Amino acid sequence: MAEFRLETAVRRPEAERNAILAAPGFGSNFSDHMVVIDWDRERGWHDHRITGYAPFTLDPASAVFHYAQEAFEGLKAYAHADGSLWRFRAEVNAARFQRSARRLALPELSTGDFLAGIDRLVEVDRDWVPRGAEQSLYLRPFMFAHSAFLAVKPSATVTYAVIASPSGAYFGGSGVQPVKIWFSREFSRAAPGGTGFAKCGGNYAASMVAQQEAEAAGCSQVAFLDAVERRYVEELGGMNLFAVTADGRVITPQLTDSILEGVTRSAVLRLAADTGLAVEERRLPQEELYQGIDDGSISEVFACGTAAIITPVASFADPDGVHVVAGGEPGATTLSLREQLTEIQYGLRPDPYGWMHRIV
Ligand SMILES: *Cc1c(COP(=O)(O)O)cnc(C)c1O
Repeated sequence: MAEFRLETAVRRPEAERNAILAAPGFGSNFSDHMVVIDWDRERGWHDHRITGYAPFTLDPASAVFHYAQEAFEGLKAYAHADGSLWRFRAEVNAARFQRSARRLALPELSTGDFLAGIDRLVEVDRDWVPRGAEQSLYLRPFMFAHSAFLAVKPSATVTYAVIASPSGAYFGGSGVQPVKIWFSREFSRAAPGGTGFAKCGGNYAASMVAQQEAEAAGCSQVAFLDAVERRYVEELGGMNLFAVTADGRVITPQLTDSILEGVTRSAVLRLAADTGLAVEERRLPQEELYQGIDDGSISEVFACGTAAIITPVASFADPDGVHVVAGGEPGATTLSLREQLTEIQYGLRPDPYGWMHRIV
């Protein structure tokens, strides 16, 4: 694992930082520094550094602009009551980033470099970690290809970077706000053999028009069905889905190459099993979901991901109508899982899983 050179940036004035931290929003403000590591075929990963947050200068022919050869990650640093700063299962993000890179013909970054870069950045920008309830420093690692040629082939030069954004609730407001979800009929997010299991910008680009359709229908998120039979529930544009049955089972779509394996998803599966719920990872037909919601045998549905944590689903809608989940109110299992997860992340209960790692 390489050493990171520190190029100290001009730090923003404390008053400006405090104004941002008082109302951080999500993903629109950034800390003073960023991680940068370069890669090329001859030297591999080199020039590891923490540098001032600043624009990149790129050749207009850079591969990423034309062929979207890039991948990213998303995770958070949490402040505990004693002022210490922690990360949650970041080694799982590192492994997923390696899988994404392989799929996108990008070079793999070692887990050591991934973790060390994050730790150095959080340490240098520790004053940017907000301390309020459910606030965190959202970390966005990413890599992009920038060889300047228009031939379709893997880039010979790549840059990896991590930027950090002080963040509050993803859906705005405070506390737990149930969301309305739109099922897209026309659009797919990912298909077998495609890039759905990889965290890459192309998947998000493909989801945006469906997201617009959802918003036009008064919903805040879009859910996707499998691209082949258009029958099985897959996930949202950036979150995994769970249904909870009235008789205490928790169902989530089984992983395929068109579903992104969430770090939150696997944590929820573990917490649910350890809470005594029967966990089912299997194909979930849309008609089973709708029927269960309508007859009450499915009593709760929630979405989960790093940014939005665990968010109750109030309803599903499609061109044929609306299915309201248990009156649209968050359910007890959803709230309990959410509380267990956030209390572990914020150091308010013991972490028997070894998920948390102290940064500073
Ligand atoms: C990032 C992401 C998720 C959630 O993953 P977490 O690791 O829990 O944040 C779910 N679905 C998609 C498509 C994603 O990109």
